[in-house]
Amino acid sequence: MERPGIVFLDRDGTIIEDTHFISRPDDVRVLPGAAEAIARINRAGIPVVVVTNQSGIGRGYFGADEYEKVNERIAAELEKTGARLDAVYHCPHAPDAANPCPCRKPGTALFDAALREFNVPGSRAAFVGDKVRDVSPALPFGGTGYLLVTPATTAEDVEWAEREAQTVASLAEAVDRMLGLTDAAARR
Ligand SMILES: [Mg+2]
Ligand SMILES: [Zn+2]
Repeated sequence: MERPGIVFLDRDGTIIEDTHFISRPDDVRVLPGAAEAIARINRAGIPVVVVTNQSGIGRGYFGADEYEKVNERIAAELEKTGARLDAVYHCPHAPDAANPCPCRKPGTALFDAALREFNVPGSRAAFVGDKVRDVSPALPFGGTGYLLVTPATTAEDVEWAEREAQTVASLAEAVDRMLGLTDAAARR
């Protein structure tokens, strides 16, 4: 498989522990191996772009400033491993089933914006996340989706991913696949 031209990562549950509506920098815990995996994408010269639903803002649980402070902490933690996020896009809206915004995943507006910013066709994008809504946007773009399977992933979602995308146990495994490496020794 051709290497991706851009890698889209979900944030909560994919890069950091998902503690539900995280609003305090001190609660940031980078998942084991995630920073190293991101550094490998950086070294491959491929843009790494976070696309994250942050409905805690729209629900009034925390403000845009707190959201930014959490992102600053994530960037500082990643930097310790030499890893960097090239851009972070977020949807701040509360879910509204009757009148959904175009940016809340699985909406594609933020992906569209990032593909324009980085001038990469959607067919060359990789989508990684721990929810189907992170990965299903790969389908309209013709990209490749990697569902991170955790103990919380439902059997229905695993079945969907086995049919429509790929399943992986970690961000590191997704990066192995997209960079075409299968053995740990080749990571160095
Ligand atoms: Mg998530
Ligand atoms: Zn939105």
